[in-house]
Amino acid sequence: MSPIRVLSKKIDRLTKLVENEVPNVLVILDAGHGGVDPNTGINQTPSREFEHADGKVLYEGMLNRNLLRLAIIECVANNLPYLVVSDIYQDNSISDRVRKANAAYKMGGYDECNCIYLSIHHDATTTHTGTGIKLITYFGQTKSDELATITEPFFIKNGFKVNRDFGDGDMDFEYNLGVLRETKMPAKMLEFHHYDNPSELEIILNQERQKSAMKALIQGAVSYFGLQYLNSTL
Ligand SMILES: [Zn+2]
Repeated sequence: MSPIRVLSKKIDRLTKLVENEVPNVLVILDAGHGGVDPNTGINQTPSREFEHADGKVLYEGMLNRNLLRLAIIECVANNLPYLVVSDIYQDNSISDRVRKANAAYKMGGYDECNCIYLSIHHDATTTHTGTGIKLITYFGQTKSDELATITEPFFIKNGFKVNRDFGDGDMDFEYNLGVLRETKMPAKMLEFHHYDNPSELEIILNQERQKSAMKALIQGAVSYFGLQYLNSTL
């Protein structure tokens, strides 16, 4: 057999392998706010930072990006194609993130069963006393609610305190937010504990809890897609 024929057979085999192993799904990831400029050290979203009594300043955009990085590792371990629509550190607008997500959705020919939008945040309140996590969707019963409902047990199983709002019959909260309202695919926001409450920092800054949370988030995605959870490298 000629070398070219051998090569083309190899490529055929590799293509088949890729087709078999990579499911036709897309996980769209969003870190919510801007992070810190690596050159100047300036937080890009000053409205989302909190100085604790001991002088420690936490930037939500940075905390969100740390979880985003773990979510990406979890997607890779499970062969899930993903797209990040937030910037590396800048605070790109909600409409920019939505535009990128909806363009990928359209161009990839996805539907609401094989493409989801996950917005990763940390919570804060005016009293700085909030505890636990929240899953949030837009109003009304949609596939977004299904995604949240499927995901919640993974957080519970991993020992997280999940706040619930049964106002519309299911556990997730309903907020009127652009990334939840304007995205074409099922969209869910995670508020991962309260970065302005000192009693929550033990969880927020604990790497094992962070990993555990992102495993739960991606296990929820895998389950929603009807796929098998493969493994975790976290
Ligand atoms: Zn936020």
